Order: sequence, then C-alpha cells, then structure tokens
Amino acid sequence: MGSVRTTCAYCGVGCGIVAESGVGRETRIRGDKNHPANLGRLCSKGTQLGETVGLEGRLHFPEIGGRRVSWDKAIGRVARGFADAIAQHGADSLAFYVSGQLLTEDYYVANKLMKGFIGSANIDTNSRLCMSSAVAAHTRAFGEDVVACSYADIDAASLFVLVGSNTAWCHPVIYQRIIAARAERGAKVVVIDPRRTETCADADLHLPLRPGSDIALFNGLLAHCRAAGLVDESYLSAHVEVPDGFWDGLDEYTLVRTAALCDLAEVHVAAFFELFAANPAALTLFSQGINQSIRGTDQGNAIINLHLATARIGKPGAGPFSITGQPNAMGGREVGGLATTLAAHRDFAPENQAEVQRFWSSPSIAAKPGLKAVDLFRAVRDGRIKALWIMATNPAVSLPDVTLVREALAACPLVVVSDCIADTDTSRFAHVKLPALAWGEKDGTVTNSERMISRQRSFLPSPGEARPDWWIVSQVAQKMGWRDSFAYGHPAEIFREHARLSTYRNEGKRCFDIGPLAALSNRAYDDLEPQAWGERPFANGRYFTPSGKARMIPVAQRPLEPALERWPLTLNTGRYRDHWHTMTRTALSPRLSQHRREPLVELHPADAAELGLADGALARVITPQGESIYRTLLTLGQRRSDAFVPIHWTDLQSGGGRTGRLARAAVDPVSGQPGFKQCPARIEPFAPDWHGFLVARSLPDRIAAAYFTRIRMRHGWLLELAGTRDPGPLVASLLPKGELLESRDPARGVLRAAVYDGEQLLAALYLTRNGPLPDRDWVTSQLSSCQASPIELLAGRSARPAPDRGAIVCSCFDVGERAILDAANGGAKTIEAIGVATCAGTNCGSCRPAIAELLKKVAKPEAMEAA
Ligand code: SF4
Repeated sequence: MGSVRTTCAYCGVGCGIVAESGVGRETRIRGDKNHPANLGRLCSKGTQLGETVGLEGRLHFPEIGGRRVSWDKAIGRVARGFADAIAQHGADSLAFYVSGQLLTEDYYVANKLMKGFIGSANIDTNSRLCMSSAVAAHTRAFGEDVVACSYADIDAASLFVLVGSNTAWCHPVIYQRIIAARAERGAKVVVIDPRRTETCADADLHLPLRPGSDIALFNGLLAHCRAAGLVDESYLSAHVEVPDGFWDGLDEYTLVRTAALCDLAEVHVAAFFELFAANPAALTLFSQGINQSIRGTDQGNAIINLHLATARIGKPGAGPFSITGQPNAMGGREVGGLATTLAAHRDFAPENQAEVQRFWSSPSIAAKPGLKAVDLFRAVRDGRIKALWIMATNPAVSLPDVTLVREALAACPLVVVSDCIADTDTSRFAHVKLPALAWGEKDGTVTNSERMISRQRSFLPSPGEARPDWWIVSQVAQKMGWRDSFAYGHPAEIFREHARLSTYRNEGKRCFDIGPLAALSNRAYDDLEPQAWGERPFANGRYFTPSGKARMIPVAQRPLEPALERWPLTLNTGRYRDHWHTMTRTALSPRLSQHRREPLVELHPADAAELGLADGALARVITPQGESIYRTLLTLGQRRSDAFVPIHWTDLQSGGGRTGRLARAAVDPVSGQPGFKQCPARIEPFAPDWHGFLVARSLPDRIAAAYFTRIRMRHGWLLELAGTRDPGPLVASLLPKGELLESRDPARGVLRAAVYDGEQLLAALYLTRNGPLPDRDWVTSQLSSCQASPIELLAGRSARPAPDRGAIVCSCFDVGERAILDAANGGAKTIEAIGVATCAGTNCGSCRPAIAELLKKVAKPEAMEAA
C-alpha cells in the first residue's frame, strides 16, 4: 500500500489525512500528525472515509437524456446550449450553481468563465446557505472577508464562547482541542444555543436563549463591558470607525432587559458577562446558528462589535472566529465563487472590473453582482434563466422550499449536472450529466476555516471516463471559443494564475494575497505543505476599509415574531454527528449509518405530551411550505415550543425526514442566506396502520410505503417501514425471488417472512399492527452467516438471546450504549476508563461527549431525571 497525504473531504476544519490505498480501492485512513489543523486527530466521518470510496452509484460516463455519449458530444451539447441562450436572451440567462465541495482550481475556472467570458455574475455557491452572512459581516466590519483567528488561538484562549455551533458534532476536531484546553489549562467554555446539544457536555455555562435573540445578548454584553470600563477607547479612536449615536441605542440593553429578551435567567446572563469581562483572551466561535438566520449578518456584526470595542482581536487567543461548514467554502470565497464578489476578494467597483478584465484578457466582465442562490432558483422558475449548470451539489434537497426548486429544475430548458454520483434528487432533472472525479481521485487545493491552504491529492484511479471539474469547465469554455484562456493542462497552472490574480495590483489593499505561491513549480505545487494566508490579521490594527479602520455596525434586536396559533412551534434544523450534507457519501458507510439511523424530530417531553406523541412514535412535521414524517425523540435538551430536525435525508434515502420541504425561503437582506434555523411549524401524530422493518441483501427497486428509511448495514440494508394501506402489494414488491417462509396472524396484523437462496438469507420482513418487533441488529447479523433456524428467524430471536447492545455510541469500535453503561456501573468513572474497558472514544473522540453524558446518568440518575 502506498500512502498519500491529503485533506479530509468533509468539514471546514480541514484535517490532514494520510490515505493508504491497496487492491480494489481498499483504503486505510489515519490522521496526519504533521498537519497543523488536526495534528493527527480525526473525527468519525474522517476516520471512516475509507468506507466511502467504492464505486457504487458512481457516474462513469457523460449522458444526454439518460443515454451514454462521448465527452465530445456532451461538451458540444452544453457549449451550444449556452451559446444559444446568450445569443437569444443575453448573458444573464445563464447561471452556475456550484459548491464548497469543489477544489479551488475548479472554482477558479468556473468563476472565470462566468464572470469574465460569459459576462454575467450569475454564479453562486451552496456556501451561500452556509456562511455568506459571516462573509457579509466581515466585509461590513473589516472591509474584506477575512477570518480574524486561527486554530492556534485555541491554544491561547482562556474563554471559549460557542455561539450557534454544535461544535462537538459539526467541527469535532476543533471541539476536542477546546476540551483539551479546558482540561489542561482550566479554560472556560460557554455554549449559546437554544438546544442543549452534546457540545454542552463539557461546558461551564449553557445559555439556551430564545431563537433569534442573539443580538440582544451580544448588545447586552457590549453594554455591560462599557459600563465596566472594558471598552478600549484608545483602540477605538486609533483603529475603528464608530458611527455617531452608536452607543445611544445600547443603553437599553440592561441585564434585566437582555435576560428577558433572550428568555434566560438573569443570573446566567450575569455569569456569562462576568466570564467575558474576566477573560481578555476570549474566542467567540460562531457557526450556522448565527449565519442561517434572516438576521445573520447583523448577528455576526453584533459579535464583531464586541471584539472591536474591547480590542479583543488581532491578539493571541482573542477574536470573532467564523467556522465554516464545507471543506472548501473558504477557497470559493477566495476566487469569487459567490455571486456578490468579483474575484480574489474584489467587489464590482469599476476599477476592480477593469483590473480583472485586463488580467484575464477577457472579452467582457460582469458589471454587477449576480443572483444569490434563492433568487437564482426563483429566476429559473420564472423563466429568466434558460440554462443552468449545477456542479457537485444537490439543491433539490438542500435549498429551502425545495418544491419551488424542483419546479424550477423541471421547467428549465437546459439543466447540466456535473457530479460524481449518478443518481441524486437533483440529477434526475438533468438533461446533460457530466461525470466528475470524487475525493481521492481529484487533485488540487482547499482552504479551511483558518485560511489554511492544503493540498487534496489523488490516490485512487479515475473510474470510467470521469474527469476533474476544472477540466470539464475548461472544455466547455474552449468549445465556446475561448481556447487560449482555458488551455489548462494541470491544476498547478490554475493555482498559479489564481495566486497571481490575488497579488495583481494589490499593493496591500487586500489581505488575501498569495503572490509568493504564484512561482510554484508543478513539483513544488505537488509537495505544497499547508500554509495560511493573512498571518494574524489585524495584529497591527490595520483593516481593509478605505480609511484603514474597522467599522462598528449598529445593530438592534428586532421584536421576534410571536408564535401563530396555526404554527405554534419554531422549527430548527442542523446536522448529525456522523452524516454529511445530503448523505451521498456518508450513507455509503455502514458504520456512519448506525449513529442516527432515522431522521428524528426532537421535542421537549411536555410539548410531546400535549401533542399526544410518545418517544419513538412517528410524527408529521408541517410548515407553510410542506410536510414530512419523522420519528420522535423526546429530550429535555429542547426548549418548550421548539423542535429540531436534521438536514440530511433525501428522497432516495427516505420517504420522510425531508427537511428541505419544510424550510421557508426567507433570507437575510444583506447576505441572502436563508434563515433555516427558525421556521414556524406544527406537529401532528402520524398513526400508521402498521409498521415494521425489512432486512435485505439488496435494495428493492421501489419502496411504496408512507414512511420508509433505508440504512446501510455491513452485509445489506435495513429498511424501517410504516404505512396506512393494506401492506399486501408492498410486501410482494419488497421481497426478492427465492425460497419463501412465511407466518401470518391476521387477527393481530402480524406478518413475518424470510426469503432464502439455499442456505443464504436474502431478506427478512417483520410487520405488525402495533405489537413489538424483533431486534434489528440480531436479524441483520443473519445476513453475514445465517446461524438461526427458520423458526428462530421467523420468531425474530435466537433460542439463546444475547443482551441488547443499545444505541451505537462509538462508530469507530462499534460500541453500544449498554457496554458503556455496564463499564460505568463496573467502576469506570471517566471517559478514559471507559476507553480502557470498551475502546469507545479512543480513536476519533467524536463520541466522547456522548460517553460523558452516559457517565453523568450513572453518577446522578435522579438529578438527570429531575433536570
Ligand atoms: Fe474531516 Fe472530521 Fe476533520 Fe471535519 S473534523 S475535517 S469531518 S476529520
């Protein structure tokens, strides 16, 4: 096995990975001890990347109308379609919707084609859904989209304020570093989040504030700092523009009023304020809870205002730190992949247009910002966009109000999708499909949350005729007549051009300047070590505004919408620990599929009781945009009247859990980022006439149940099922051909069936009206080697039953809750001791917060109950 140093495919932490590949794409993954982002650590998703690099479901060849064609024909079709649209309707009738999954080189070429050659800025990215409010807040305050901090600040901070961030699940390696700082140095951790997530397991203080009240909290803290003499007047006068009247509005944010606005106990708000006052090395990490709001930009600026006013920025361990979701959201921001920037951190000012056009020697240049994601798809539906190219993303699932998005895709005259996966909810609308390389095959660079550029290197052969995205875009550009400007033969050529553009006529005007990398040889590019641009931004008090000063942005807490009688709940959305985006990759991993097998709606038990919902029951979540079915999880971690659902499930994965149908398309007025986190909703019980599950070696072609979820297991699939109609026709369609054993009890609505091929079990189905069901894991284990007799199998249990393992806690070592509780009851009182006893938590550490919670349960069962 040869080993290659590369970068993780998932989140913006940007962990370094050592990948070893062998025969048949077998891949071993370990953390790269020499990568500064993770120093060898990986979370569960990174650790299991080896399970996701198989070729199942891949798009191998170009297709037009579902038929395989040559690259030449496919490229010709796309180029002709684009040229026709431009000729008949103008450049703005075209749009690209791209992705933070693209490498910087892919992004650069796509942006260059759209903005410099087609002459429109209608290129937006799914990063619009993720961190565009942070971009807008940075730009307003600093004059440029510059993240103020780096991971090294974690090692210097004495206070961590985690706002709207389930860091333990969404940025686990950062979380492990924070928790190590707490354990080793006594650093304090404050979590500000309406939900009590696993990130709270090691927090000193959790503020479960009212959703959408973050501005009140940070304005209140700023008012407190001013009253306590912590505002640094000399820093403000030297380095910050403070608008007239800025302080006047802050006086109303007294402790009492702030606590009332946020629906928090005054004592807890005061404790937070005191912690911030006492810790100059304060790092405020913020993520989707801040960004995915219709006030996301203002919320970001409320945090930045605080750090500017107290001069807690540009110093070790202090600053506002936006942590990004996607592996290359930052690289996309660098090249100008958002419709609101031109290129290389330039806006659309006339001098920037002239500069970029000269640099590209391009025939035209976009003169104004293009359509942001939500507006872009509205324009597609309205018929203003005639041709749409979607690269490496799944907007039919991930955008808000996907019903509108699907109508748009269905109505668009030309939809081109380049992706590595053959069948996604989005590619079903494609007229042309172009096969792209996947992680492990493609080669280029990514930039993580701390501005660290790292190489993603290939270590697997390209399947079929799949090609790099930069190659595909360049071929289309060449076919459209711009041969010389897109004659790239190697990603290093694109990277050098990107670096040259960053430094071209920069002269210190912009922080983003990677000019020294423009001289890299191909060899040096191949060997490039991780390196950050903008080392400790703002350390010298200089910002990138015309005056060189930062800007305080006045922001006020607006009254929050009162709950409506018809929509009494506030629906929040987010991620699970072991899944990523729309699961096209993580659902390939049997291990990652175990942590949360189904999409759950999390509710406070008191709300559930009022709704007549029991833990584990199915529920219909309804918003003005649509509805979907979820399994209920009752948790005291939810505020009353709030509910939480995950973002991951697609039509391919489940008949329920379709969160994209629920979210409204309301956006932040500055950034255009959708407010995914707060949507009026109601919940009703969904009472199926029957429920059950299927275990099968291969998936049925069609699953026509009112509710289903498919879960990858080591030797096949587990399908959860529920329905309201006679299950007879469904049963026939679910079971494969083979030797059938069946038992029925019509009076109790019980059906049990097993299908064999000789000795081998092909499938087992268990349906009941309302009775108990067998242990899924035991039945699934029979797929690997069927030890059970037919009677045992139909009974759904062994004659010598093994104890129930409980929910899987540790994905790396497949350790269930039962084993951890047993170890704890047997004397293992710390996470480390649990690790010694069970191995849980000793690899990636992603499950350590869950183990901590279980240890608390064992230590104080009554207290947990009372809480
Ligand atoms: Fe990958 Fe996990 Fe690191 Fe994120 S924290 S980059 S998902 S290993």
